[in-house]
Amino acid sequence: MNNKKSVLFLKLFFLLLCFIILYSKVNSDIGRYILILMVMPMALLFEQVNLTLFMIISSASIAMAIFTFGLTAYETIIIAAIFLVSIPMLSVFSTKKSKLKINDGLKRKNDELKFYKEELLNERNSLVNERESLEKKLERIIHFYIISKDLNKNIYVPRNVANTVLNILSSRQGVEYCLITRRFVNKQGVDRLQMFSRLNEATKKKWYKLVNGNKEIENLQKPTIMNKLFEIEHKPVIVWPVIAGLNWDFRIYLVVKSEYSQLYVEEGEIFIPHLKLSAKRIGLVYELEEKSRIDGLTGLYLKRYFIEKLNSEYERVKRYGTNFYLIMLDIDYFKKVNDTYGHLVGDKVLKEIAHIISSSVRPGDIVGRYGGEEFIILLPSISKEAVIGIAEKIRKTVEKTVFKENNIEFATTISIGICEYMPNTKPTKLIDNVDKALYESKKKGRNRTTIYNL
Ligand code: GH3
Ligand code: MG
Ligand code: MG
Repeated sequence: MNNKKSVLFLKLFFLLLCFIILYSKVNSDIGRYILILMVMPMALLFEQVNLTLFMIISSASIAMAIFTFGLTAYETIIIAAIFLVSIPMLSVFSTKKSKLKINDGLKRKNDELKFYKEELLNERNSLVNERESLEKKLERIIHFYIISKDLNKNIYVPRNVANTVLNILSSRQGVEYCLITRRFVNKQGVDRLQMFSRLNEATKKKWYKLVNGNKEIENLQKPTIMNKLFEIEHKPVIVWPVIAGLNWDFRIYLVVKSEYSQLYVEEGEIFIPHLKLSAKRIGLVYELEEKSRIDGLTGLYLKRYFIEKLNSEYERVKRYGTNFYLIMLDIDYFKKVNDTYGHLVGDKVLKEIAHIISSSVRPGDIVGRYGGEEFIILLPSISKEAVIGIAEKIRKTVEKTVFKENNIEFATTISIGICEYMPNTKPTKLIDNVDKALYESKKKGRNRTTIYNL
């Protein structure tokens, strides 16, 4: 039995109980008559009133009337007539009521469905939004992953690091183009600004002018939209400062479509810490690597690294058809210096001569300590006159330098050999040649420069 039916039976039971109590209390005929007549409006109080139920109630009422007043009593006839007339009225009433009920039910169902539909739509929209933001996050993660992976491959070389970042960022949505600058102190102690981009020379120059020495950009600590840089493209420029120290400080400039400017400020917040970490790590390894290439006493490149540089320069020159020269220098009678003043003084002399050499060459030249008191210089793209000029300048400066030890002054000299790159002459042979030229200088009396001749 379902819930509705049990409620109905309870109600019926309650009605019957009331009726019996009232019936037993009422003693007059008129009272009982009214009581039986009351059954009908009370029956109508039932929500689920239907014809069958009404028929049962009316039959019971008529039976009560017969029982109370007798079969032919006018009260019985009136009660029977009232119930009989009520039947068609009730059927109209109950159909209307059920129709109303159905309409009501349908309306409620419709509202419910509308509500569910709206809820589902909202849920769908929030899922779509969530998916989009997850996709964006994934895209960022993938890009960062690619950058990190490529940075690891391109370790040590700032140009490669910058180009990797450039490649990735240039392909990002909304980015028109980007460029990177790197501020560093070169070997001569000069503060320099390096620029990496795929722009044409004229635009590059404009950018260089705009950003070189720009204090506002140098002081930036977080990604910023720099409206003052609008001058070139009249588009927003977002600057990402990637400050890793150890000469690995970068500024990334992103020229973007207006609607993307805020996004790339946010992207910067995510990217910069990672880029900074990578740059810091690369910088440390680079420093370490650089230190392992350098001679502790003189600060010049070790022989092993110099040979590496010579080999790569040899390949480069072979490909591009340019030239280079080698200069080899050896201190004259250095053994005597050691013997007279001691090894520590000898070391000081070596250091001083190394300094004279480094400050006499051009920025791109490579200087190495080739042996105990032998030095070697690689001078790319240079004329014979210029190379002789440099060699002689070094020789004369050393000759004029006065060393002092325990109030005793002394001087020393160096002998020099020079040789030019020749096609099809291997680097080892070139070293052999420059050594021969140096030997010639020694043989001819030292403190002189000799050019290798075939
Ligand atoms: P030459 O003019 O023929 O070159 O004579 P030299 O005495 O310079 O040549 P030699 O090759 O006989 O002597 C080189 C000396 O350089 C021997 C060695 O004691 C010294 N020497 C090599 N490396 C160092 C160093 O790191 N410190 C010091 N103090 N001396 C060194
Ligand atoms: Mg020697
Ligand atoms: Mg010597």
